[in-house]
Amino acid sequence: MRLAFLPLVALAMTWGPIHNGYAPSTPKAEYALAIHGGAGVILREQMSADREKAYRNALDTALSIGEDILRANGSALDAVEATIRFLEDCPLFNAGRGAVLSYEGRCELDASIMDGATQKAGAVGGVTTVRNPITLARAVMERSPHVMLTGKGAEAFAIENGIDTVGADWFLTPERWESWQKAKARDGRSGSATGEEPGKFGTVGCVALDKQGNLAAGTSTGGMTNKRWNRIGDTPIIGAGTYADNAFCAVSCTGHGEFFIRYAVAHDVWALMAYKGWSLAKAADQVIRKKLVEKGGEGGLIAVDKNGDITMPFNTPGMYRGFARPGARAVAVFK
Ligand code: ASP
Repeated sequence: MRLAFLPLVALAMTWGPIHNGYAPSTPKAEYALAIHGGAGVILREQMSADREKAYRNALDTALSIGEDILRANGSALDAVEATIRFLEDCPLFNAGRGAVLSYEGRCELDASIMDGATQKAGAVGGVTTVRNPITLARAVMERSPHVMLTGKGAEAFAIENGIDTVGADWFLTPERWESWQKAKARDGRSGSATGEEPGKFGTVGCVALDKQGNLAAGTSTGGMTNKRWNRIGDTPIIGAGTYADNAFCAVSCTGHGEFFIRYAVAHDVWALMAYKGWSLAKAADQVIRKKLVEKGGEGGLIAVDKNGDITMPFNTPGMYRGFARPGARAVAVFK
């Protein structure tokens, strides 16, 4: 008799939680993974079925890459890096190939990664020649005494460490070129970089819990279209765009970076859990749906805690997102 309910339960496990952005796990999940491909004004009525399918397929492939690693006993760090490398190489997202263009017409890439087991972190800002900035960020964490390297120095470090570099045309896609032309017409000479199109962000991120109980988080972006003066957003800032601590959570953000820096969003989620004893979902909701809304900061985040609970709140019309755990998996785009 009971078995008859199983398909319903499985469906609820797969689809129910993601609609309200919260996927609790009881008991503790063996492993867990969540991804995002940016939040923003992503509306069903403005997206063709083919395009939505392309995004869903890309998110699904990214989940498989990460989940295969976690299922096979791999580390959360390896899962985060490999998943983000795929999303960086995928031209649909604003990271690596397919990154937006700066005022000067360049793809200037930012990324960061954090290991929840050691709280070591690595980050890079404004790199223009590194194919997978997330791998460079990890190299900064593991092979340098520093946390953040930027610009030419970061690129020299990449070469010294044998990390893949590419020409500028590797990153460029016709679609981003077009958005840049529109942004220049809209923002004029200011290069004020208020977003790809008003309120549209396309950063990628991944958070993971592995079978050893370790958490990791990573984020990678091209930043904002028409950004100027070597503007760097929250993505490579530890505590703003990315944070991980085995004791509480791993967090990766997307949205209007200036707000995420001012309110130390990723760390704020951690702080509400650590100092107030709040659950992951309550902490993330407070920051994204209350505080940031009051302050006018658009965006969202994905986060996982040490039990494999996942939350993915956003205060924009949509966020490309997905999660995978033993027995549950989903991708979603709209609210
Ligand atoms: N947070 C990124 C930035 O401000 C943009 C994004 O999430 O798409 O650079």
